[in-house]
Amino acid sequence: MQPESVMTNCIFCDIIAKTAPAEILYEDEQCVVIKTIQPLTPIHLLILPRIHYSSLNDFTDSDSELAGHMLLIAKLMASRMNISDSGYRVAINVGAGAGQTVFHLHLHVLGGRPMGAGLMTERLG
Ligand code: AMP
Ligand code: ZN
Repeated sequence: MQPESVMTNCIFCDIIAKTAPAEILYEDEQCVVIKTIQPLTPIHLLILPRIHYSSLNDFTDSDSELAGHMLLIAKLMASRMNISDSGYRVAINVGAGAGQTVFHLHLHVLGGRPMGAGLMTERLG
């Protein structure tokens, strides 16, 4: 499936277009970094590609440069937030079954408190 550059009824597309509010911490020609409205950790950022992809499943071989760029922005933001050494987690929820609630691809950058060895940021019931 080809990504759309802008999707109507997508909150992240609206944030990127600056028609919806958000705390934007960084932006470049490929992505925008915001603070989540519901942080799971003291530092919880979201890296959004400017182009609308519903999920990681929409990435193809031609997106490898963007994929790598977003990972490097995660590292950059961790450094700027002073969590490079204390530790941080980069996560992508892919699909509702994995907890994805906003269907515009995004990387989570979580840190600022110890998170233990598991992948979960919160205990599941
Ligand atoms: P996920 O569950 O992986 O789809 O993550 C969605 C993330 O987007 C969560 O951290 C939400 O708190 C966050 N979120 C949803 N709506 C907004 C919004 N309007 N501004 C900032 N973050 C949002
Ligand atoms: Zn979107």
